[in-house]
Amino acid sequence: DPRIVEIASTIREVPNFPKPGIMFKDITTLLLDHKAFKNTVDLFVERYTGMGIDVVAGIEARGFIFGPPIALAIGAKFVPLRKPGKLPGEVISEKYVLEYGSDCLEMHIGAVQPDERALVVDDLVATGGTLRAAINLLEIAGAEVVECACVIELPELKGRQKLEGKPLYVLVESH
Ligand code: 5GP
Repeated sequence: DPRIVEIASTIREVPNFPKPGIMFKDITTLLLDHKAFKNTVDLFVERYTGMGIDVVAGIEARGFIFGPPIALAIGAKFVPLRKPGKLPGEVISEKYVLEYGSDCLEMHIGAVQPDERALVVDDLVATGGTLRAAINLLEIAGAEVVECACVIELPELKGRQKLEGKPLYVLVESH
């Protein structure tokens, strides 16, 4: 799909961010390009329309950029999965391991009903720990996670293995 080549060309690489040795993929430059941003959302909407998805769960922070336009277009609700202490209601929490240290995602109890079909959205999958935590939260709530969708995958980090066969759909592979 020629749209994917164009999307890939709008993603900026920033060396040594947020720390030395890391080549950060910056999607803010994709957002500045209306056509690339629109095509990104459209590609996901084309894939997920008519799949009976009830819930789009977006991961803080950049899953909050791509998730809502997809949810609106496919007729699903949007559920934010947030960093600890941000959601005002009762939450369930899922800790996950990072390269250095650990982090946590939270979801409001009652946001998702048992047997609802869910799509997890984020900008990028690296080690897969974040997506794994998101899947766990949704499954604890009784939802069925149909797929995870990201704009970018870093395949060298083998994030897919952490998903244990759960489908992962990405637009751009970055090496
Ligand atoms: P993982 O848990 O798969 O190791 O890391 C993925 C999470 O870290 C995602 O929420 C993603 O937003 C963030 N992340 C890690 N590296 C990058 C990067 O180079 N660019 C962007 N945009 N996000 C990153």
